Amino acid sequence: MKNSGRAVSAPVEDADPLGTEAGEEPPPISRALVQDLLFTSEPARKYSAFGRIPVSQHSRLFMHEFFPHATEADWSNWHWQIRNSIVGLDQIKRFIKLTHGEYTGIIRHTSGLPLRITPYYASLISPTNPLQAIRRAVVPVADEYVSSPGESVDPLGEEGQSPVQSLVHRYPDRVLFLTTGFCSTYCRYCTRSRMVGNHGRFKGSISQWQQAIEYIEQTPQVRDVLLSGGDPLTLTDGHLDYLLSSIRRIPHVEIIRIGTKVPVVLPQRLTSRLLNILKKYQPLWISIHCTHPDELTPEMNSACTLLADAGIPLGSQTVLLKGINDSVDTLKKLFHGLLKVRVRPYYLYQCDPILGSSHFRTTVDKGIEMIEGLRGHTSGYAIPHYVVDAPGGGGKIPLLPDYYQGRDADGVILRNFEGRTFRYPDGRLNSPAAP
Ligand code: SF4
Repeated sequence: MKNSGRAVSAPVEDADPLGTEAGEEPPPISRALVQDLLFTSEPARKYSAFGRIPVSQHSRLFMHEFFPHATEADWSNWHWQIRNSIVGLDQIKRFIKLTHGEYTGIIRHTSGLPLRITPYYASLISPTNPLQAIRRAVVPVADEYVSSPGESVDPLGEEGQSPVQSLVHRYPDRVLFLTTGFCSTYCRYCTRSRMVGNHGRFKGSISQWQQAIEYIEQTPQVRDVLLSGGDPLTLTDGHLDYLLSSIRRIPHVEIIRIGTKVPVVLPQRLTSRLLNILKKYQPLWISIHCTHPDELTPEMNSACTLLADAGIPLGSQTVLLKGINDSVDTLKKLFHGLLKVRVRPYYLYQCDPILGSSHFRTTVDKGIEMIEGLRGHTSGYAIPHYVVDAPGGGGKIPLLPDYYQGRDADGVILRNFEGRTFRYPDGRLNSPAAP
């Protein structure tokens, strides 16, 4: 292992990175057709769904202690949550007692993935236990500055598979659309830590979007567009409506997917206006990035319920993280909780080898052990695909325990979840039965 040698200084972030004070209008776009699709000039907060996402007793106590001047209407407003997010050392020190490693991780930051945590998500963090799962997931530590063999800034080789800046085209019939470099809360193990955050190189802009949209228009084999980033649901309503309508207009695009952590870290974003926008662009699927059962709060459950009631199919994506969620019991609790709010566990990812990720990465054997502990022991719906995203851009490779044990002249030998073996009479090797 060697030190990555990042220089030392305190983080600085734009207090209003989304320009939320300026209302919800996207910048002027010359195309008349596009203009028709934009919203009127009424600001979004008029449409706030205050009251739809509950303020739990836990949130209320946290708010009264750390934001004594805030009202429940403030707390329920996603703009307020973003404006009051924890982005620096002085702020985070108010909420948690930092370890030396956390303190060092925060003051060393100069570029790449910044510190940012919404007040809502901060309310879920243990102030005293540095080993708590979600605290480890979002609070920087000095280990981020230690790089190990095999790690890189772009381990999936996305930049080499980008025909235009905002797009990754790896698989034949689908593309990944990088919509924004902003998230309301930054996960320390983020695969795209090279580009997200205010200090990243990627900003996301209407002109970049236009290039990506034109590429999709000119590529008829693309039937599936995944919007990711950064977090697409942190875009303003007007921007999101424009983007979704631009993609939905392309005849060969059959489905649109959104990858987001917003229901988990910023459930207040699920306003009635946002839901009405999403409903217009069916078939639209949403993959929710979930990490640990501590995230299954009344607020998060309500956010998922609102999306499901809007007719949007929901899946989840979870990154397997050392000491955070790498136990069968933890994952089972998470996946059962997700199913109860109509979120189907979809992918369990092996953590990608970004720079400074060794403290997060488990072995691949550990991932297989997780599936072994789930398959047969709980509902099939509660078991995601365990995949390794192949370094260098090879795509997702699914891995399973060795249930297939080989074949002989009489058929295929299979092992079940209890370790017992069975023979399936595979027709390929057998002669047809005599009449
Ligand atoms: S929400 Fe996704 S894109 Fe944003 S920091 Fe977390 S992993 Fe990265």
